[in-house]
Amino acid sequence: MELRTASSPKDEKYYDTKRLRDEFVVEKIFFEDEIKLVYSHIDRIIFGGAMPVSKTLRLEAGAELRAKYFCERIRCGHCAYESSCPF
Ligand SMILES: [Zn+2]
Repeated sequence: MELRTASSPKDEKYYDTKRLRDEFVVEKIFFEDEIKLVYSHIDRIIFGGAMPVSKTLRLEAGAELRAKYFCERIRCGHCAYESSCPF
């Protein structure tokens, strides 16, 4: 999971294009047989993509969430609409 921390608006105005893109753009989220997640402290969201091609992928909390499973302390899109969550 990629972690993106918040930055100060006072600092951002001095960023060049590369730095702005590095901080705020995610160019690609789908990779074969991977789950790519970006945890942004700016909006306190985790977004990403999963592309299972030749194997089953498992969504895990990772060290960043400090949780036993992905949806222990957060709500995913599935949680928002269903009473139970597979994650
Ligand atoms: Zn969930």
